[in-house]
Amino acid sequence: MLCRQSFSTVISLLPKSSICSVQNIPKHSPDIMRGSVCFYSTSEVKPKKAPQSSRYKLVVVGGGTGGCAVASKFASLGKECVVVEPSDLHYYQPLWTLVGAGLKGFRLSVQPMREVLPKTCDWIKEKAVTFNPKENYIVLESGAKIEYQYLVVAMGIQLDYDKVRGALDALENDPVVASIYHPKWVHKTFPALQEFKGGNAVFTFPNTPIKCAGAPQKIMYLSDEIFRMLDVRDKTSVIYNTALGVIFGVKKYADALLKVVDKRDIKVNYKHNLVEVNHKTRTATFENLDDNSKQVYFQYDFLHLTPPMSSPDVLKKSPLANEGGWVDLHKHTLQHVKFPNVFGLGDCTSLPTSKTAAAAASQCGILHKNLSAVMSGKPTVPLYDGYTSCPLVTSSKHCILAEFDYEGQPLETLPFNQAREMRLMYNMKAHLLPALYWNGMLRGRWNGPSFVRKLLHLGLGRKPNLPSS
Ligand SMILES: Cc1cc2nc3c(=O)[nH]c(=O)nc-3n(C[C@H](O)[C@H](O)[C@H](O)COP(=O)(O)OP(=O)(O)OC[C@H]3O[C@@H](n4cnc5c(N)ncnc54)[C@H](O)[C@@H]3O)c2cc1C
Repeated sequence: MLCRQSFSTVISLLPKSSICSVQNIPKHSPDIMRGSVCFYSTSEVKPKKAPQSSRYKLVVVGGGTGGCAVASKFASLGKECVVVEPSDLHYYQPLWTLVGAGLKGFRLSVQPMREVLPKTCDWIKEKAVTFNPKENYIVLESGAKIEYQYLVVAMGIQLDYDKVRGALDALENDPVVASIYHPKWVHKTFPALQEFKGGNAVFTFPNTPIKCAGAPQKIMYLSDEIFRMLDVRDKTSVIYNTALGVIFGVKKYADALLKVVDKRDIKVNYKHNLVEVNHKTRTATFENLDDNSKQVYFQYDFLHLTPPMSSPDVLKKSPLANEGGWVDLHKHTLQHVKFPNVFGLGDCTSLPTSKTAAAAASQCGILHKNLSAVMSGKPTVPLYDGYTSCPLVTSSKHCILAEFDYEGQPLETLPFNQAREMRLMYNMKAHLLPALYWNGMLRGRWNGPSFVRKLLHLGLGRKPNLPSS
């Protein structure tokens, strides 16, 4: 009952005209649009060619999840705000796990950039290549210079497929090698799974920070289900080779996931880091991080690759970066540690929490408050507790919804134990969250579930662990 109420609270936030149904499409039909939510655009912005030199009050670099949401929050600045974003397309990447398993059509995960960016602001369709925060300007690929009063950096994370020898070659040439992390190679996943006839199905997790640390195993659980449906599971070894020493970073959910892998007879090898793929011999080479990087070889009949990731190269070499290359922010205010007129959010930041769209949603509301404060000469307030969430899909009907903070302590929205496989959570992941994303978050209307959590816990839940201002 309570859950129904919370969902209707959230749904009531969305414009009614923007929700429609597409139902009863057969399962595992990737070419057909599946899902329950369509997006009707109400705004459209045309990209502008950058003049050789220009000046804005606010420059937002990156028009992905975090950048688009922040720009929408500041849409009232009008032409004093610009988004610098090179891509024509905006992706809702969390859907790619379901796309990979044939449960959703790719088309539901993509919208033209011109339709999601706020129409009041300018959009310059280019890459930022240089940051000069001491003199408050950035330089674009064309050489154009944009001066700013305030800067928000939301450039996402870089996929380093090339750091694994042979990976790109295998993705290009071997039909049984796929990756849900890339808009090109997510398309290979479901056909490869459908063609699978048994043998070794190997899933990898790299030795770097990644976005959505749950996705490499979500696609594995969904693949395992497909193998069972195809009746090939008894001649299949499902193998999860992770560079980490645990299956998930938060113990409560790791314990629940260990029960799932046990029940599903999945072999987990810890501290196994993929270093090479030879698609001619269908061999994946891992280094064993616990054994002096000793090499271990796995024959594969299906290989799901999660690439190493890092901060975008242009950030790594900029004065905005910390030692690891990430935009160096105060973790509770999202303000840059050295440049007070610079803020950041999302995957490219130093914030020590799991990199997800859910985290970016919470960060967006806090960034808006603190940057608005700075714009009007007021101090920032420490508000961000590291909230992030990961819907750990374990089948085409079930999901464990992990939600936690900087301390790795659960911060669950619903007033019952979420470390269980639940249908409710799958429906939320597959149907509610995409609607909330396109119609709430990208329009600057969704700052994460903290108000729903307070409501459902009657204000008695765990208080965020934040320093006093
Ligand atoms: C397979 C998969 C599953 C996921 N599952 C979930 C999930 O279940 N739940 C969840 O919450 N999150 C999930 N995520 C993670 C989520 O998608 C990201 O954390 C989120 O999109 C991060 O937002 P961002 O704005 O930091 O980066 P992005 O949304 O990636 O946007 C970055 C933008 O910056 C632009 N850019 C890059 N370089 C430049 C440049 N030089 N100049 C200007 N612009 C530039 C890019 O073109 C891009 O548009 C998943 C991701 C993947 C890939």
